[in-house]
Amino acid sequence: MSALAELEARALGEIRGATDLAELKRVEQAFLGKKGELTQQLKQLSSLPKEERPAFGKAVNDCKVSLTKALEARERELKAEELSARLSSEGFDPTEPGSPVPYGTLHPITQITEELVDVFQGLGFSWLDGPEVEFEYYNFDALGIPGDHPARESHDTFWLRDGNVLRTHTSPVQIRAMERFGAPLSVIVPGRCFRNETVDASHEHTFYQMEGLMVGRDISVPHLIYTMKTCLREILRRDIEVRLRPGYFPFVEPGFELDVNCPFCEGEGCKVCKQSGWIEMLPCGMVHPDVLRSGGLDPEEWTGFAFGLGLQRLVMVRYGINDIRDFTGGDLRFLKQFNRI
Ligand SMILES: [Zn+2]
Repeated sequence: MSALAELEARALGEIRGATDLAELKRVEQAFLGKKGELTQQLKQLSSLPKEERPAFGKAVNDCKVSLTKALEARERELKAEELSARLSSEGFDPTEPGSPVPYGTLHPITQITEELVDVFQGLGFSWLDGPEVEFEYYNFDALGIPGDHPARESHDTFWLRDGNVLRTHTSPVQIRAMERFGAPLSVIVPGRCFRNETVDASHEHTFYQMEGLMVGRDISVPHLIYTMKTCLREILRRDIEVRLRPGYFPFVEPGFELDVNCPFCEGEGCKVCKQSGWIEMLPCGMVHPDVLRSGGLDPEEWTGFAFGLGLQRLVMVRYGINDIRDFTGGDLRFLKQFNRI
């Protein structure tokens, strides 16, 4: 064994045998330090015959690389041992299972949307989406609300500089759906709508609606009543009565306000229902022939019903919430009550 090989073997043995970082440092100095054994070897280089120098230089260098790697590896091991010794002396056990991280919950509007989608998909409706920035044509004109129509005044509209609007209802998707899919057609369109309203306990500038549209041959008011009763019974989780009152909306003819019997007093009369025993639930009606025409359908051949369900209102009725601002107030105490996970 050459002197160099002997030195390397000895050094590796000492490196592996070092039991702490200070000892390892001493070993490093002893071999690779300025006066270390390997450094001394290099000094012999000039005393060697010229032709032997390159081979010897390379051998010393290889030895140095090998020792450096071994030092680094041992240093990592010793550091890991020290850390684990320190943690266990501080009572930390890395093998103990973690404690649970608190997680959030789906917003009540999201929950009710998912429930509604479930119910309506069971009734054969498809789930559509539509743009929140809408053309004036789809939001108003195609639904029988031209520029001078008084109904526009009840839609406090956010107008954009380019003449488009933030949709004031989900109804524009009725036209888009008929244009795209023709008839027969059954769709629901849950989504966000905007009105330039002063915010108070029952008005929000941003609200959630779900449009429903069914077009087919011989669709009539009983289909509408059946569909609404089925849906509301599922969502309000009780057997309900509904009644229709005449209501005026430009895009339906005839139009109705649909009421449900008050869940709080069972029809006896209370503060929530203003002693009437009924709660106003949603506007609906038979699709106006002009709206069918806007959607490219022949009103002689097709009829349909449509409704617009206010999702905040539905959640409010279901849980007896009396301030619409709670939904966007960001108060976790409010939101946590709807944790269904
Ligand atoms: Zn009541």
